[in-house]
Amino acid sequence: PKYVYDFPEGNKDLKDLLGGKGANLAEMTNLGLPVPPGFTITTEACRHYLSHGRMPDGLDEEVAVHLTDLEVRMGKRLGEAADPLLVSVRSGARFSMPGMMETVLNIGLNDQSVLGLAKQAGNERFAWDSYRRLLQMFGRTVLGIDGERFEGALDALKGDREDVDLDVADLVRLVETFKGIVRDETGREFPADPREQMRLAVAAVFSSWNAPRAVLYRRQERIPSGLGTAVNVVAMVFGNMGHDSGTGVAFTRDPGTGLPGVYGDYLQNAQGEDVVAGIRNTVPLQDLEAIDPKSYRELLGIMATLETHYRDLCDIEFTIERGRLWMLQTRVGKRTPEAAFRIASQLVDEGLIDLDEAVRRVNGDQLVHLMFPRFSAGPGRRRLTTGMNASPGAATGRVVFSSARAVELAAGGEPVILVRRETNPDDLAGMIAAVGVLTSRGGKTSHAAVVARGMGKTCVCGAEELDVDVHAGHFTAPGGVVVNEGDVVSIDGGDGAVYLGEVPVVPSPVARYFEDGTAGSELVAAVDRLMRHADSVRRLDVRANADTPEDAARARRFGARGIGLCRTEHMFLGDRRRLVEDLILASAEEERQAALDALEPLQTADFTGLFAAMEGLPVTIRLIDPPLHEFLPDLTELSVKVALAGSAAPERDRRLLGAVRRLHEQNPMLGLRGVRLGLAVPGLFAMQVRAIATAARHSADPHAEIMIPLVGAVQELEIVRDEAARILAETGVDARIGTMIEVPRAALTSAQIAEAAEFFSFGTNDLTQMTWGFSRDDVESAFFGRYLDLGVFGVSPFESLDREGVGRLMRIAVEEGRRTRPDLKLGICGEHGGDPDSVHFCHEIGLDYVSCSPFRVPVARLEAARAAL
Ligand code: ADP
Ligand code: MG
Ligand code: MG
Repeated sequence: PKYVYDFPEGNKDLKDLLGGKGANLAEMTNLGLPVPPGFTITTEACRHYLSHGRMPDGLDEEVAVHLTDLEVRMGKRLGEAADPLLVSVRSGARFSMPGMMETVLNIGLNDQSVLGLAKQAGNERFAWDSYRRLLQMFGRTVLGIDGERFEGALDALKGDREDVDLDVADLVRLVETFKGIVRDETGREFPADPREQMRLAVAAVFSSWNAPRAVLYRRQERIPSGLGTAVNVVAMVFGNMGHDSGTGVAFTRDPGTGLPGVYGDYLQNAQGEDVVAGIRNTVPLQDLEAIDPKSYRELLGIMATLETHYRDLCDIEFTIERGRLWMLQTRVGKRTPEAAFRIASQLVDEGLIDLDEAVRRVNGDQLVHLMFPRFSAGPGRRRLTTGMNASPGAATGRVVFSSARAVELAAGGEPVILVRRETNPDDLAGMIAAVGVLTSRGGKTSHAAVVARGMGKTCVCGAEELDVDVHAGHFTAPGGVVVNEGDVVSIDGGDGAVYLGEVPVVPSPVARYFEDGTAGSELVAAVDRLMRHADSVRRLDVRANADTPEDAARARRFGARGIGLCRTEHMFLGDRRRLVEDLILASAEEERQAALDALEPLQTADFTGLFAAMEGLPVTIRLIDPPLHEFLPDLTELSVKVALAGSAAPERDRRLLGAVRRLHEQNPMLGLRGVRLGLAVPGLFAMQVRAIATAARHSADPHAEIMIPLVGAVQELEIVRDEAARILAETGVDARIGTMIEVPRAALTSAQIAEAAEFFSFGTNDLTQMTWGFSRDDVESAFFGRYLDLGVFGVSPFESLDREGVGRLMRIAVEEGRRTRPDLKLGICGEHGGDPDSVHFCHEIGLDYVSCSPFRVPVARLEAARAAL
């Protein structure tokens, strides 16, 4: 293969091979912009080097040929004593990893060529400054010497002077000191041979792909670890030749707000790395207009050219050598979520892109960011600890440790933060009442995290440094800080920070816009414009998972076209728990029927509210799903209570304890739940179906869909379906009957199951857990961190759909289900329904809709459009 490309041979689309920096240097060269000549060694050579521990055959020769070309073009030889060519050796991967890998400048200098450089430039100081920079960068990067050693020596020499105040004699001394450090640390001389310098630098840049900080960065940014970096060898241009020289960085518009204008920093008499290192204070780019008007105008012209060419915000690095401008880097620049929406919309106005492209340029994660309130930055914040950023937002409130207390205080208008070791379904009321949830245990898919995200509630979970003592009513933070119930804390679900006391927040105008259509800022106008277009191009419908009329109404305002999942189990908690207990304790038929009869009107009222909120749109109601014992008291607590009371224990408690023991399961997730429960407890499902039918009869334009959970065999479904159909026929109500696909067997026998189901809804939480054979509640904190480190998966399969495994089961069900029943309706109602990548997958396999929590509905709308484009 060809391992080396001269800049004119590449272009911006060759990023895989040439890296982002190399591809864009090539592009700029071909645009006729002033780029110093050079060449790029491919990522393929890097991958070979990293896997074999040596350079691929033929690479040295190929590099030699391109170097000779470069020398001919420049009329100088690399490191030649009289008039040396110098080069930089620069990393540059497919995805930008700012500052994570290495670059060495001024390759080619040694004791002889430094004199030639001084003479040719007529500037001794500049030459020695360049030499000391080479020793410093080469020493640290290539030879692995602690950078502190060089900096220490430099600082000692400088005293309270600036680096530009060092004179020739100082710099000559510094070079000697640096060479001494190299000798000291490596036991050999600094390599004087320019070609050896270059070879070693190339190898060091390749190796820097696996530097610990690069590895960490990639994991965070989800950049694949096998790509490798390219190396760019670029003829040096010098910003450190005096006051008519300098170096800078710039953006073609403001990456923070998206506003057009001149944004950048400039540093006179300096080389590139000084700007980032903060050696001296930079000046705003505007000041360049006074310093060097000609270069300034040329730079603005080039920035305009780049924006038009890339049709996007670009960032650039440039250097001015004695009044001559050189472009050293460009790329489509990173930006804040706010800027992303505004720029996309502005570029449409400017005629550079169309609305399709504008929608492609933004994403659901950015949108989520814009929807949450933020803590305003400010001094005096006291950070207690940092946990996992489970659900974004900024929440401040009084600490409470129980659901009941949360409800109580919140009822009085007090914002509260519910703090628990971990949450369970019983905490739901408290979570709803609280403005934020903080736990010391559990990962991003723990109960607290999942439920909070679903509700759009701020949550920091797994803050392991906190010692939460619910019974004593306090938690202890590092440093022994004790926070009592009633104390105020602030939690940032965006970065996981936990603060003591109140931190001021600013509300999100974007959330307000979704909530009630409030227009206003340019940002909101941009979001509105892009969302409207998104809705016009997407094929997937978007529904919401909502259990209450309030949630349903909100989801509808957020753009949901129906409910894809109403979980009825939440309707059995709270005050109604006693009725459920009665149902379980019932020994005679009449007792059971009495309990069911008491529940039915309550259920009917629940469904009536939902049909009203979703008038004219489908409402999918899942019949009761979780194991019955979840509605019963805790086994240990009840045993203790009964034991302590002895013979005085109330009869009801004794019977309850018997029932709890009887119903206790080793693996509740694989136990008596879903359709199994419906078949085991006669009358339960029938009661729910009757409630649905009654509610539908009394509603305007209801579209009920009855969904049976946890079906694994068509026989299970048939029994329930037949009974439900009978009730519907008796009441004269029209409703669809369908099933969840969440047990692998259901996916595998979907051809049969479709005979009895009018719709499938993929319950991908359970389907993931059963396909992998791990329990979501247990594995996250136990070993997911390790699995992510080891690369078993790049992201938790509970966060983003596992396309190959779980996704394959879904494909089978889609294909075989539709073969049986061509008009089978297909949707998804697991957590994944609001995850961007999973939405794309659902589009690809041809589902009809995704259903997600109300707060994620806008995200799903946007991502469904991006999937369709
Ligand atoms: P990074 O990816 O960390 O920005 P770069 O490879 O871009 O690293 O280089 C670091 C600094 O050195 C940048 O400021 C860049 O502009 C500057 N630089 C790189 N090559 C040259 C060169 N040939 N002449 C002058 N400055 C250079
Ligand atoms: Mg750079
Ligand atoms: Mg399920």
